[in-house]
Amino acid sequence: MPKPIVAIIGRPNVGKSTLFNRITGGRVAIVEDTPGVTRDRLYRDAEWCGRQFTLVDTGGIATHQDDPLVARVRSQAEQALKEADVIIFLVDSRTGITADDEEIAALLRRSDRPVILVANKVEDFSDPTVTHEFYRLGLGDPVPISAAHGLNTGDLLDRVVELLPAVPAGEEGDALKVAIVGRPNVGKSSLVNRLLGEERVIVSDLPGTTRDAVDTYIRRGEREYILIDTAGMRRKSRITVPTERYSVLRALRAVERADVVLVILDGTEGVTEQDKKIAGYGHEKGKATIIVVNKWDLVPKDERTMDHYREAVRQELSFMAYAPVLFISALTGQRVDQVLMTIDAVGEAASRRVATGTLNAVVREAVLLTPPPSVKGQEVKIYYATQVKVKPPTFVFFTNRPEGVHFSYQRYLENQLRQAFGFEGTPIRLIFRRGRE
Ligand code: GDP
Ligand code: GDP
Repeated sequence: MPKPIVAIIGRPNVGKSTLFNRITGGRVAIVEDTPGVTRDRLYRDAEWCGRQFTLVDTGGIATHQDDPLVARVRSQAEQALKEADVIIFLVDSRTGITADDEEIAALLRRSDRPVILVANKVEDFSDPTVTHEFYRLGLGDPVPISAAHGLNTGDLLDRVVELLPAVPAGEEGDALKVAIVGRPNVGKSSLVNRLLGEERVIVSDLPGTTRDAVDTYIRRGEREYILIDTAGMRRKSRITVPTERYSVLRALRAVERADVVLVILDGTEGVTEQDKKIAGYGHEKGKATIIVVNKWDLVPKDERTMDHYREAVRQELSFMAYAPVLFISALTGQRVDQVLMTIDAVGEAASRRVATGTLNAVVREAVLLTPPPSVKGQEVKIYYATQVKVKPPTFVFFTNRPEGVHFSYQRYLENQLRQAFGFEGTPIRLIFRRGRE
């Protein structure tokens, strides 16, 4: 499991770095002018009640110094929203609500991330009215703390831990969650039955079955998987009208829970619009994906059919060129053994962490080989990169002009990372932030 990310956001001077240091136990000031140090200090691992997470002080996220304050705070908040699992929104109980606070609150109310509203610099915890004003921000009960004196920060951390993504039951091991999605009748159930029927696979039912899917735990040697079968429900509960719309919804939910997505296509029909939509969910959610062309036994073929077919699939699903394409028959069992092997490979790629030194060697070389094109006569510089997340692998690049890094150059960097580190089957994300050399 990757560590969840908890971000502290708020306008300047509310006490973000004080709270950050309080929680992570850092005694030094975060802002140091040594290159490399500042950046690393933005992210620090923390633990409370046995749960580990990575804390981010968004106040340290460099922004455009010329932008108005509001814009800077907003861009920090937006960046935090992209990455964080839980957000601590810090306000100052001594100054009360400001326009900046209201702006951030509006942004947070529109997002689906859990937010804890925290009023800092509280001196008198016996007076409940000191935080009353903050209810107006529409983000629930304000938690009063004093970051400087470490008062009530334990209660705050209890709340944080409650809101961290749950570690699902039966998943204490390293079971990979595999969603099997696709239109009705493409062969999802047949494939699941094949996988369950494979030799050396140990099967057990999981209690965690939802309304949308049947979860099955399987183990093969050392490896554990949870198959999230969106077709299985129909088998079990005799729901006989899997309307197209309903199946898309189920697919979406299954994808959200999964580490690896198997998009099953019917080999006799090619890639349909709905297949694209279903595959697109996985891509948008950052999930490792395998395209499985089923019913290959029904496809008339010569020795070039597979290559042509693969080419056609890649064209239709050009947004996910990273996804391997398998050709199987769930009916005859042809190449079904490749499915679990490929799941292992892409699952591993999605969790791969690249050491910062190695990463920067590759980035330096890439930039040297092809520097970013300048924008309006101004040079664009890439200083440094760091991997902040897995599933999908996510990289932050520090640059003098985040908005100046053209899309095609981002693609170039992505390709260089893929060439150097693989990442087959998984999307990777590149984030550009303003930073200094
Ligand atoms: P940031 O800009 O949000 O990171 O805020 P800082 O952590 O740099 O804090 C801004 C100022 O508020 C500093 O002078 C801190 O010492 C002060 N401060 C932070 N937390 C508290 C607190 O709980 N009580 C009081 N009285 N001052 C605090
Ligand atoms: P689901 O709705 O996606 O779960 O699809 P099913 O697994 O129920 O399969 C739909 C139909 O396709 C059934 O009649 C299966 O026997 C058939 N089928 C599934 N896989 C294959 C395959 O690889 N080859 C052939 N010829 N038929 C298949």
